[in-house]
Amino acid sequence: MSIIKTNKVFKTFTPQETQKLAGDILDSLIKKAPKDKALVLALQGDLGSGKTTFTQGLGKYLKIKGRINSPTFVVMKRFGNFYHFDCYRLEKPKEILELNWQEIINNPKNIVAIEWPEKIKKFLPKQTHFLKFKFINEIQREIKI
Ligand code: ADP
Ligand code: MG
Repeated sequence: MSIIKTNKVFKTFTPQETQKLAGDILDSLIKKAPKDKALVLALQGDLGSGKTTFTQGLGKYLKIKGRINSPTFVVMKRFGNFYHFDCYRLEKPKEILELNWQEIINNPKNIVAIEWPEKIKKFLPKQTHFLKFKFINEIQREIKI
């Protein structure tokens, strides 16, 4: 499939394109990433920039059955070995540790997507892949890896 290099900028014009991009990026990372730790994706960007939409694309690629959305009161949702964190509502970074965090990020079987990763900056593992999302206009988003 497609090879995704880092320091690349992508533009998408529909939510479906953003989801397809997520699948391509994940496919590429799964193939090249070392398999000794979890694959961690930090999704940075303002509200509405496409982080959850992108995460839905990861879920589609992984053939996840459950519904991926913006959790209102939960910080973490688990779908088998796929974890979706939304840290927006965390008050203190260390609260993340109560969610089995260390085990999750150290299990090489896991794929972990994190919205609002800035909230838990000091707990992000070395292997984290950072993606930046930007709202350009109503239909257009820019995604940097
Ligand atoms: P975030 O999780 O960053 O707050 P969401 O993914 O929840 O953002 O919301 C993005 C919104 O923007 C959705 O309503 C989606 O339908 C819309 N949208 C429009 N164009 C795009 C695009 N190119 N990529 C992703 N989302 C888009
Ligand atoms: Mg979101």
